[in-house]
Amino acid sequence: MEKITFIGLGNMGAPMAKNLLSAKLNVEVFDLNPSAVQELTALGASSADSVQQAVQGSNVVITMLPASQHVQSVYLTEGGILDSVDSGTLLIDCSTIDATTARDVASKALKRGINFVDAPVSGGVAGASAGTLTFIVGGSAENFAQAKVTLSHMGKNIFHAGEAGAGQVAKICNNMMLGILMSGTCEALNLGVENGLDPKVLSDIMLQSSGRNWALELYNPCPGVMENVPSSNGYQGGFMSQLMAKDLGLAMEAAVASQSSTPMGSLARNLFNFHNGQGNGQKDFSSLFEFYQKQQ
Ligand code: NAD
Repeated sequence: MEKITFIGLGNMGAPMAKNLLSAKLNVEVFDLNPSAVQELTALGASSADSVQQAVQGSNVVITMLPASQHVQSVYLTEGGILDSVDSGTLLIDCSTIDATTARDVASKALKRGINFVDAPVSGGVAGASAGTLTFIVGGSAENFAQAKVTLSHMGKNIFHAGEAGAGQVAKICNNMMLGILMSGTCEALNLGVENGLDPKVLSDIMLQSSGRNWALELYNPCPGVMENVPSSNGYQGGFMSQLMAKDLGLAMEAAVASQSSTPMGSLARNLFNFHNGQGNGQKDFSSLFEFYQKQQ
């Protein structure tokens, strides 16, 4: 039976690996955190003591790590993934990292006859648990077709964005737009409230008008307007404000590399950095609404 190795069992990786186990696949896991590993072995996964051991004999290796430096360390250092897998193995990195690192790992893998795709996700912890993630994949058409088979156990929409690194570029373009839309939605709603409007009435009006957008439709940042969203739950759960700042930082790095103008993304990044500096980094990103509210 095909062996799948899963490295990085955090908020996203653990539920993703659980969905592979639910599909009755043969999964071996590795994480620096022993309790994260234990949670998966209790459900039937095998475990390893090192990256090197975990990827031995694997057909597919999936990684879900915090940031670029973790991906560089796990893939490129001595005894890392590239040193340890058989040629022909498919490597799928689902972490959100900079496109340059993704391209670097892809080209070093290719030189050794190893297949690599970047496959960052959208959908958050809820999507990871439900198996409804969106995967945005960068890599060759052949590697994409092969990766899709495994990714379909963890996600609903699987897009081929282009060659290596393209998945990361598409992901940060999307999240930069989300950061801008959330900032604008907070700003407009607060302006209405401070000029005497009921935020629910204003939201209903804008939803049928040209200001309609994802944040307003599904993720209203003003407490009490919408049920079952972080704003009505003290901004707990959802997508942490510090992760939005990380993604906006990646978008700015890409903009510098390509000499692209991103004034709105840059402003959104500053807003989230300021907000996080006030101790809000762990709150959902829609808590930016509080930045606009006048202090009582
Ligand atoms: P997390 O910090 O909860 O999990 C990361 C895991 O990686 C941890 O369990 C950690 O122990 C493990 N790890 C770190 N270094 C390691 C190493 N050298 N070897 C083995 N394991 C190692 O992070 P997360 O929330 O699961 O996010 C993972 C990635 O997904 C990030 O790039 C993030 O930007 C992206 N993402 C997160 C969300 C979200 O809502 N949390 C949504 C979309 C994308």
